[in-house]
Amino acid sequence: MSNPNETAASVERPLNFLEEIIEESIARGDKRVQTRFPPEPNGYLHIGHAKSICLNFGLAKKYGGLCNLRFDDTNPVKEDVEYVDSIKEDVRWLGFEWAGEHYASDYFDQLYEWAKELIKKGLAYVDDQTQEQIRQTRGTVTVPGTESPWRNRSVEENLDLFERMRAGEFGDGEKVLRAKIDMAHPNMLLRDPIMYRILHSEHHRTGNKWCIYPMYDYAHGESDSIERITHSICTLEFDVHRPLYDWFIEKLGIFPSHQYEFARLNLTYTMMSKRKLLQLVQEGIVTGWDDPRMPTISALRRRGYTPESIRMFADKVGVAKRDNVIDLGLLEFCVREDLNKRAERRMAVLDPLKVVITNYPEDKQETVECVNNPEDESAGRRGVPFGREIWIERSDFMENPPKKYYRLSPGGEVRLRYAYLIRCDEVIRDAEGRVTELRCTYDPESAGGKSSDGRRVKGVIHWVSAAHAVRAEVRLFDRLFTRASLDDPEEGKTFLDYLNPESLRKVTGYLEPSLAEASVGDKFQFERTGYFCMDRDSAPGRPVFNRTVTLKDSWAKIADK
Ligand code: ATP
Ligand code: MG
Repeated sequence: MSNPNETAASVERPLNFLEEIIEESIARGDKRVQTRFPPEPNGYLHIGHAKSICLNFGLAKKYGGLCNLRFDDTNPVKEDVEYVDSIKEDVRWLGFEWAGEHYASDYFDQLYEWAKELIKKGLAYVDDQTQEQIRQTRGTVTVPGTESPWRNRSVEENLDLFERMRAGEFGDGEKVLRAKIDMAHPNMLLRDPIMYRILHSEHHRTGNKWCIYPMYDYAHGESDSIERITHSICTLEFDVHRPLYDWFIEKLGIFPSHQYEFARLNLTYTMMSKRKLLQLVQEGIVTGWDDPRMPTISALRRRGYTPESIRMFADKVGVAKRDNVIDLGLLEFCVREDLNKRAERRMAVLDPLKVVITNYPEDKQETVECVNNPEDESAGRRGVPFGREIWIERSDFMENPPKKYYRLSPGGEVRLRYAYLIRCDEVIRDAEGRVTELRCTYDPESAGGKSSDGRRVKGVIHWVSAAHAVRAEVRLFDRLFTRASLDDPEEGKTFLDYLNPESLRKVTGYLEPSLAEASVGDKFQFERTGYFCMDRDSAPGRPVFNRTVTLKDSWAKIADK
């Protein structure tokens, strides 16, 4: 049996650029590796975060180091404990355990002291301009900014004002603290960036202790420094922020964490902005953060993805230094690979057509033996009831079949998986001419699906005994969006104009009876139709299954449409 823990991660591959950097520093004798995953708790984690988690925790693990989980919770208005809890659950589910659980808010006192230190060094000042005025005086890439009229306040005045900001003497937006760097700096982020703003707002961890909050750019680099992070890994768009983080670290003379940037994960047909995902949730376009059509980790979990498949995906995507877009098909490939090894097979008919086997005795019933997983002998076998009336898939019958159609057609013969050969004798229809039933005869000498006289019957179809079938709601998901790239909508459109109206189709499936015993989260391959996972909406006697993924990549076909 193949080991389910073995993913592509254990397969030999060339070092990525971060591994090269780490191995070089190890060779120089610098052995300590300390990374961190720094989410802002303002939404649920998505597959892009999963990439970052696998990278940060993966590097620490590979080089005997540690990885912290740090919540960059500097914005009290958008953050929530619900998000903190979901993030922890998702990281653990992916298979990682953090060394330290930290919060930027734990560092608020230290950050405040350091801000005062910068004021004392003449490197920070209180500005009375509004944030709007500050934006307007920043200049442009080609035009230098204008210095604030408050830029040259004395150290004493700055200290006094900053302390009074903290004490709550001023209203929101009345003053800010800015770093005094260079209003003509070619990097706009270094044109006296804001370090602190006034926000009379309760924080989910510090309550009402603070009414001034550090800006992300001031808090982030120093939080790394406090945790003595050796490799501060982030996505490419932060490369322009690095000089600012370095400036604070240098001026304060604190631990020099070094930032390295890699290309963020982009996936076709997938929206990965937390703000826009929140919009989908808030506007009820999806049922919640874990709606199985969402790209969040919680949604992938609910849909039936395994941690192993996501880690395999992260590994196959690799670590690039340049932006690129990955085909969603690769993620689906990974979950197929993984579930193929471990998901037990079951029979389920999703678009039923009744078959009556006229020469099978009415009162007879038998149990046929089915293999649970041809990829895994240890999964054993199970009995499945067979009887005179069965359901087959409507698409497994064609009245006027083209050549090379090996399934059922009038006069034709097909093999029922694990059971018998049947021949279609008669087609019954309703008043509208729609086929409602097939009347067939079976070959009693073909138990196990083998003909006794050696005649060849190519087609094999799945079936479910009508007398024993368990009815279930089956949710067939498709991509949430119809457009591969959502970052550059056509003129006058937004990402909401590309919602796929067919992203969810609910059908009633007829499942073999063993599935009545399944539990929420159990995963199966429904023979010939795909991988399915039992959903938490299931009720006793009324299971609900989510289709994780189809068996084959229908991608190319869809993309051509
Ligand atoms: P937003 O969507 O609001 O821009 P974010 O995706 O940057 O936020 P954070 O919580 O700040 O969310 O991200 C935590 C970490 O995950 C950061 O280090 C960030 O670089 C990384 N990350 C976020 N999105 C991706 C992505 N698509 N691919 C790889 N890493 C990502
Ligand atoms: Mg971010």
